[in-house]
Order: sequence, then structure tokens, then C-alpha cells
Amino acid sequence: MAIDLEFDKNHLWHPYTSTTHPLPCYPVESASGVRIKLEDGTELIDGMASWWSAIHGYNVPALNRAIAEQSAKMAHVMFGGLTHEPAVELAKKLVQMTPASLQKVFLADSGSIAVEVAIKMALQYWQGRNKPTKNRLVTVLHGYHGDTFGAMGVCDPVNGMHGLFKSMLPETLFLEAIPQGFNLAPCPSLLAEMEARIAENADQLAAFIIEPVVQGAGGMRIYNPEWLKHIRAWCDKYDLLLICDEIATGFGRTGTLFACEHANVEPDILCLGKALSGGYMTLAATLASDEVAEGVCASEAGVFMHGPTFMGNPLACAVANGSLSIISEGRWRNQVPAIEQQLKAQLPPLENEASVSSVRVLGAIGVVEMQRPVNVAEAQKVFIEQGAWIRPFGKLIYIMPAYCMCSEDLQKLTQAIAAYAMQASV
Ligand code: PMP
Repeated sequence: MAIDLEFDKNHLWHPYTSTTHPLPCYPVESASGVRIKLEDGTELIDGMASWWSAIHGYNVPALNRAIAEQSAKMAHVMFGGLTHEPAVELAKKLVQMTPASLQKVFLADSGSIAVEVAIKMALQYWQGRNKPTKNRLVTVLHGYHGDTFGAMGVCDPVNGMHGLFKSMLPETLFLEAIPQGFNLAPCPSLLAEMEARIAENADQLAAFIIEPVVQGAGGMRIYNPEWLKHIRAWCDKYDLLLICDEIATGFGRTGTLFACEHANVEPDILCLGKALSGGYMTLAATLASDEVAEGVCASEAGVFMHGPTFMGNPLACAVANGSLSIISEGRWRNQVPAIEQQLKAQLPPLENEASVSSVRVLGAIGVVEMQRPVNVAEAQKVFIEQGAWIRPFGKLIYIMPAYCMCSEDLQKLTQAIAAYAMQASV
């Protein structure tokens, strides 16, 4: 039976959409490998990997099996006072693969919640360390950390999407934007300016939160990893925790397992999500050092005050274990650089198009910034004609394909972007 698109249009509220002016919505029948199959039989090469998450593609036999086997044992059981093998195995894997100082794993149900958890940990930590005035976050402009209130409080309030909630959001110290350019070394005067603002506010600052090397939904900006070293040094000097939000960049996307490895920097708290479950289930994790955990538990509450109903969901943990096993096999270490090389060959020539402002590539991420905001419906018509699924936002057309995408399919994605850029140039 056909998907009832009329009902969808009238009753299903899609993300970031208006109910009065809904965007066109394409009915999906199935997805396998790197292809999404629409109900009318059209097959689209997926450039979005379901918003960075489906890093191994769709319909992955090992992941299907992990879910099926786990669901035959137990789909869910409350995590309070009970534990289970999929969660323990997942925590072991995460402790082993993340920076050595991160020893405690708190499982969350989405990226935004992993960020809420990180913020709450930082606030409770300073209560436990008898410095309760350290209760604000500091970050840089162009960050994006999720759509819940704590997370919105650390998203860019000027260029970001949450300005309309401003009056309700916690007060955050926003530093200047980090200039773009993977190879552009930090400029001493900007460093000095930023450090001065941190120094001035240090007695109120609990933590610095940052997306390492790539700022995602706040502008798809790629910056020099040296910035992270300075941020780490400021955190040490002024007594702040460092929260790295690797929800988008984690698990190989930027060419290293975690983006903070580009700078050899270890955070005190690390947020993971999206690709954690290979894009199969909603699951995220917040990892903390022993020092952070001790501080949190030394606070008056004595415990960490967070506990969602679906915490440690066994199906989600089982499929995440399957996904992390594929990562451990290591094919991504060749696949991601190959994608990077191809994107670096095929996207920069688009800078010659009048409609294109700039192109940037890192790992399996390709970004084409247009001169003007992209009309999503129009652009998607062109992409779909070219057999590609790409979802632009603002002036940005970006792709972050599954790591297993072959070069022919990747070329079709870059050709689709080129076709749109050419059309927009005339
Ligand atoms: N942090 C970053 C860096 C993200 O990219 C996102 C999602 N785009 C989030 C947090 C929020 O994750 P979720 O959508 O799973 O809540």
C-alpha cells in the first residue's frame, strides 16, 4: 500500500519545517548499502548518511543480526539496579577506543541529551569541588550542540537557529568565531583576546564546550587543530573542564578515530552519538574522566542526577557493539582518506562557478558554500534528477557519505552538486 503522503503532510510534523508551508517529502520504501529506494522505484545515492550516522551504509548484515539476536533475548529492561552484557560490552569498547583519561561511560538516548548530560556533569563537578559559582559554559560562535535547552544555550545565539528562545536560555560566554581553514594557524592577537575573556570570567566558568576541528550544523566550518591545544591549555590554566562534542565528528569521519586526535588533546568529558550505533538506533554516550566523576559524586546530591527511561537500551547497545566492531576492523582507515582525496579533486573546481563562494573538505566531509541561500526544494529536484540524496541548509550544500561508498557513486554525488552549481550560476 502506498505511503499516505496527504496524511503525512497534514499531520506529521517533520524537523525544522512549517506545518503551513511543508517542504516536499519523498516516500522511502527501503535503504540498502549507500542507496535509498523511493516508493516509485527511484534509487538515490545517499550523500547524507542519515545526518552523519549511517557510516557503514544501510541494511548491514552484521548489524541486522545484532539487533535480531538481541531482540530475541530482551528488547529492553530498566537500567536502574539492573545491568546487561550489551551495555557492559559497549562501555568496555568505548573506554578502550577513546582517550585514556576517559574511564566512565554514561549512556544517553540522543546527541542533544549527551550534551545535556555533559553540561550537568560539569555543573555538579564544580559543586562537588566547592566552587559553585563556576556554573556557566564558555564556547565559540558557530557551534551547534543540539536542540534541547541546555544544548541550545551553548549553540551560536547570533548565526544559529535558536535565537528565538534566547530569553529562556542559560547565560553562556561566547567567544569570537574560530577562523576557518584546516591549515590556518591560530592568530596570536585573537588568541590573546579570547584568553583575556576567559581569564576575566574564570571564577564563573565551569567548562569549555567545543566541536573539535569541524563545526557542523553551525556552519560546516573546518578549523586548525592547534586551536584545540590552546583551548585545552586555557582549561588547565583557568580551572575549566573541557567538553569535546564529537557527536558528528566521532568514529572516523574526519580521518582520525576522534577529531580531538588531530591535536592530540584529551577532553575531560566527551560526547558521542550519531555513528555510535551505525545509524540504526537512537543512542549516545557521555564519557568522563575519573576526576570528573569523583567531583560529581562529591556534590551534595552524592549521585549524578540523570536517568532516562531508555538508558542503556539493549537493542541500541547491541547494534552499537556491532558498529564498533566494524570500526575496529579498520577498513575506514583506507576508505575515509580515499573519499577525502576524491572530494579534494572533484569539489574545488566548483569554486570557478559564479554561484559558489567556497569549498572545503576534511576526511569524508565535503562542503560547498554557495553565494546565496539555497532553495531546498529546487536544489533537491536537481539532485534527485541526478540520482542523489543531498539536503542543503542555508548557503551550504554538504555531503558526508557512508565510508563504504565506491568512487563511482561518490562521483555521482559531486556531479549532482556541480549540476546544481552550474544551474544556479546562470
Ligand atoms: N552535537 C553535534 C555536534 C551535532 O552535530 C548534533 C546533531 N546534529 C547534536 C549535538 C545533537 O544530536 P541529536 O540530533 O542526536 O540530538
